[in-house]
Amino acid sequence: MDFEFSEQQRMVRDMVRAFAADRLRPGAAARDERGEFPADIFRELGELGLLGMMTPEAYGGAGMDALSYLLAVEEIARADASVAVGVSVTNSVCQWPIARFGSDELKARVLPPLARGEVLGGIMLTEPAAGSDLAALRTTYRRDRDRFLLSGSKAWITGASVGAIFVVLATKDPSLRARGISAFVLDARQPGVVVHPPEKKMGLRSSVTAAVTLEDAEVPAANLLGSEGEGMKIALATLDHSRLGIAAQALGIAQAALDEAMTYAKQRQQFGKAIIEHQAVGFRLADMDAELEAARWLTYRAAWLSERAGKLSRTSAQAKLVASEMANRVVAHAVQVHGGYGFSREFAVERLYRDARVTTIYEGTSEVQRMVIARALRDLETTAPM
Ligand SMILES: Cc1cc2nc3c(=O)[nH]c(=O)nc-3n(C[C@H](O)[C@H](O)[C@H](O)COP(=O)(O)OP(=O)(O)OC[C@H]3O[C@@H](n4cnc5c(N)ncnc54)[C@H](O)[C@@H]3O)c2cc1C
Repeated sequence: MDFEFSEQQRMVRDMVRAFAADRLRPGAAARDERGEFPADIFRELGELGLLGMMTPEAYGGAGMDALSYLLAVEEIARADASVAVGVSVTNSVCQWPIARFGSDELKARVLPPLARGEVLGGIMLTEPAAGSDLAALRTTYRRDRDRFLLSGSKAWITGASVGAIFVVLATKDPSLRARGISAFVLDARQPGVVVHPPEKKMGLRSSVTAAVTLEDAEVPAANLLGSEGEGMKIALATLDHSRLGIAAQALGIAQAALDEAMTYAKQRQQFGKAIIEHQAVGFRLADMDAELEAARWLTYRAAWLSERAGKLSRTSAQAKLVASEMANRVVAHAVQVHGGYGFSREFAVERLYRDARVTTIYEGTSEVQRMVIARALRDLETTAPM
């Protein structure tokens, strides 16, 4: 067993940590307040090679391993979780399935501008009546000579108004449920894609999220991922990988909350001493530290496993479940340590508390992660390590 980071992993983490401290943390509170998407920061992230981290070098990406990518997302989320979700989405739910399931021609055409950060990517799975139950989606597609035409309503699409390339799930017949669903690569810069005004969100306020209507949106036939009818399989394989990015986002938010709580508890005096000296506060910080460390190593191990053969579903669901639930407990503790000041927008923990909330919801709720794990347990006799 080897718990050492590789040279590359350490380099990525240190580089992103320095960039985050210099360029992300200082403006995070103001961007949250204004609900402003930082296009300039995404340009810089692209120049640093952070928007195509796992995409093969042959297609303009950095060709890095999953853990290097997660370390970058974690460090970014520690400074600004809104930026972290944008980084996660273009890297994982968009480029990963294209690199994995696209034809060589499709990859050569769409991946380089995404990987270089010249355009941003995302995914359109969710619909008003199809969230956890993705097989209930109603966006339809029909073939028209050398193209597909997609029509329907998508909900909660991260990057909707700022992204160009989206992986989209649509069905040829909703009554077929999962069997009818295919995955397409859609260029959203066309009249058939109508982006609605951004959602007014509790957290991640400088990330854009919006509903999208597809009105005979055109997709070249060559932009089909895999074969027709494989959309659900592609989406589930993608989520097995991309969930680790949300786990890393949760780790970063929790780390920031613990950092803030430790600093505050050392400096705030009550009853004649720093509050960290009161055992109840010290123990609270100890629980935060221990839980964060446990979730972190579960997530890192899942990243390591994702590079090897075998099914990832249970491991990635465990990491996402544990890290996101942990982050919500840790941010709540951090607010408590701050007392009344934790309830004020003047202190970073207030934003961290709001930003953590969605991590147990998107890319599969905690209940969905438990369903994935429970399904895997049905096929196992023991979970003892081999
Ligand atoms: C900020 C944000 C960004 C997002 N970005 C994207 C994006 O880029 N692309 C995209 O496609 N989607 C995106 N989503 C959508 C997100 O993935 C969904 O919100 C999520 O999958 C849950 O779906 P839902 O909201 O329809 O909830 P529902 O599925 O309606 O669930 C409601 C509640 O019921 C529970 N539930 C449902 N079924 C079961 C069951 N069988 N057993 C037990 N409990 C159950 C759920 O766990 C949840 O608590 C985003 C959402 C948010 C909030």
